[in-house]
Amino acid sequence: MIDTSEEKKQTKYGKYFIRYDTSKWRPGGVPVLIHLEDKIVRHFISNELSSNLYFVHWVFPGQEPREGQMALIGHPPHTHPYNEILIHIGTDPNNPSDLGAEIEMYMGPELEKHVITQTCAVFIPAGFIHSPYRIKKVHRPYITIMIIEGPERQEELHLEVLPEDLRQKVDVEFWKRFERMPLSDMVPQDK
Ligand SMILES: [Zn+2]
Repeated sequence: MIDTSEEKKQTKYGKYFIRYDTSKWRPGGVPVLIHLEDKIVRHFISNELSSNLYFVHWVFPGQEPREGQMALIGHPPHTHPYNEILIHIGTDPNNPSDLGAEIEMYMGPELEKHVITQTCAVFIPAGFIHSPYRIKKVHRPYITIMIIEGPERQEELHLEVLPEDLRQKVDVEFWKRFERMPLSDMVPQDK
């Protein structure tokens, strides 16, 4: 098998073969498989803005939050200045459409409720309010691919669409920090 780290030293284009160091996985953190964004991949000629954001990670049984605001609300309502595509991929080879998990996702300022139990992609247009996003149950490991059609993650909270009782439970300071947190460092605060 080709060792891509050696390849990077010896070749001109090996830098475009990007792996994620799984030794960075931390208890309670996100088990990241792939992370690309503009800061990581630059165009080799222009050195200008280049890659959109791609973030691929596992979700394992037991990773679903059981208490605190991550269980109650999950990721609160927000928007991004770029389109976002959230892909969920089940891993049962006999039934690849089955996600093996249950995720609640609310769409729009009306908080229209959707329950994700199947392999699917969710398209979220730029500026569109989405979430709460809550992982309710994970029966089998699955893979999430987040694509942001821009060079980096930026998000703006929209707590005004939440009912008053839920809004008061959101740790606003945490989510303000989360907006600027490197994706690979994310650890839900009350897991
Ligand atoms: Zn989002």
